[in-house]
Amino acid sequence: MRKAFIAGNWKMNMTAASGAALIKELAPLVADASCDVALCVPAILIPAMTEAAKGTNIKIGAENIHWAASGAYTGEISAEMLKEYGVEYAIIGHSERRQYFGETDETVNKRTLTALANGITPIVCVGELLEEREAGVTEKVLDKQLEIGLKDVEDVSKIVIAYEPVWAIGTGKTATDEQAQETIAYIRKKLGELFCPKCAEKVVIQYGGSMNAKNCKGLMAQPDIDGGLIGGASLKLDFATIVNYDK
Ligand code: PEP
Repeated sequence: MRKAFIAGNWKMNMTAASGAALIKELAPLVADASCDVALCVPAILIPAMTEAAKGTNIKIGAENIHWAASGAYTGEISAEMLKEYGVEYAIIGHSERRQYFGETDETVNKRTLTALANGITPIVCVGELLEEREAGVTEKVLDKQLEIGLKDVEDVSKIVIAYEPVWAIGTGKTATDEQAQETIAYIRKKLGELFCPKCAEKVVIQYGGSMNAKNCKGLMAQPDIDGGLIGGASLKLDFATIVNYDK
């Protein structure tokens, strides 16, 4: 039985003061959640948000992780740095990293293997562009992202996948319940082929893309959707409504 997992992605938003204030307000509202809850925050906010979330069920995650242990990688964050603050999750290969910062399936793979080797759960983002969906190549795109991104992973159950159709991120255009279910079921089938069907059944797969307080119930009711990666709505109290989707 997979445990649902709702994670926020703050992207390049919030400050130490506004972030801590939000966590203080969110904490009592999500205290009885039946799902796992995390907020992935900008690296500079990790120490303060870890402090703010102490004693709550909100885990603090990172928005990226570098593959090298240390060295000349200006602007990057290592696993050791994240572990120092007890970080348990790292988003990897978000479409914004792919689009604006040259992230590739190969670098996604390196980051994923490094997170796993350090006991940090990677939230590996996959998803197609609008033109790819319209051209009918969504499955082909996902195949490549999964084949390369998850190469040499030993235990796929230690990974969280976030299926995020790029056309739905930050656009207010959510995939329909049926579109999201159909594509996530495809991802699970593909994981079954790459690893084993039983292993694939254990993988938590989130939907991401304009998920909000209104559409979360319908998405979460789908049999293959185990959670959400939430951008915009994680910057406000709506995040608590999503976390409490089953209440
Ligand atoms: C995201 O950043 O992963 C995301 C899904 O953003 P939004 O919820 O704002 O579409």
